[in-house]
Amino acid sequence: MDFESSTHFPYSKYLQETFQAKTYKIVVASGLTCPTRDGTIAKAGCAFCDLRGSSSFYGKKGRGDSVKEQIQSRIPGIQKRFGAEAFLAYFQSYTNTYSDVDYLREIYEAALAEPGIRGLCVGTRPDCLPDPVIDLLEELAQKSYVSLELGVQSFEDKSLLWLERGHDAQCSIDALEKLRVRAPSVHTCVHLMFGQPTDTPEVAKNAALILNDLGVKGAKLHQLMVLEHTKLAELYRREPFHTVSLEEYTNLVIDFVDHLSPEIYIERLSATATHPDECIAPEWSRNRWAPHNKMREMMLASGCKQGRRIISKGPTTLS
Ligand code: SF4
Repeated sequence: MDFESSTHFPYSKYLQETFQAKTYKIVVASGLTCPTRDGTIAKAGCAFCDLRGSSSFYGKKGRGDSVKEQIQSRIPGIQKRFGAEAFLAYFQSYTNTYSDVDYLREIYEAALAEPGIRGLCVGTRPDCLPDPVIDLLEELAQKSYVSLELGVQSFEDKSLLWLERGHDAQCSIDALEKLRVRAPSVHTCVHLMFGQPTDTPEVAKNAALILNDLGVKGAKLHQLMVLEHTKLAELYRREPFHTVSLEEYTNLVIDFVDHLSPEIYIERLSATATHPDECIAPEWSRNRWAPHNKMREMMLASGCKQGRRIISKGPTTLS
């Protein structure tokens, strides 16, 4: 058995089971922004976020047309490079439910109408999911595959405050509970970040136990990175704070995986900085394979196995 299958339920297996085809995500810009960028909550974005400027096509032309053009221009390259057979339109950057339902319907349906597109992945925040948006996602999910990639980042309020997210843990729990009841056809994947200096030692275990209870399909993990052009970079230069070593982070991942239900797929265990030269800390985030190999070695040595340490249901604390 390979490393992935022997330790956890990998995303590749979930995709194969769901689509029976080699499936790839195509990143599509929605033209939307975030409440932490447009002044509703804040103007400079969440403290760790290095997205700059605003999406380029907003207001330039018919929105559905732009989605169509983006998908049509990207499919051939991905098909050629990876031998992909099926595609998901991935509204990845910014908050892709942060608009009125008519606009969202237009861009989502434009994506689903493209040949080769088997479904949607919609990245968003837990505080941007009003009922009409959830109902739209459920309506589309009853006809096509829809995954909601929910940026929860942490279930600890102290860390959410430090990250300047503009919402608390209860907001994420409420959103996940509502999605479970009101949008049962939507596949929700929760994005989490470990390694904040404000995290408690139980952060990973508690997050897994919360997810087990809330009906999510997937989880995607990444370590806290201090990237150029972010508020964290300014803070780090002013008052350096601890960032996780690879060993510390891997122990958090092991704790998470050991406590996570084996039915929840794991899309990613750690992240690599997209622009290594812009990653200030931790340094190991600049490389892909050396950290991957070390994590693999530590996980195998610990006997890590998804769900092996679940002894009771439900979160211990939400802090
Ligand atoms: S982390 Fe997400 S919600 Fe926060 S500013 Fe960046 S894109 Fe927007």
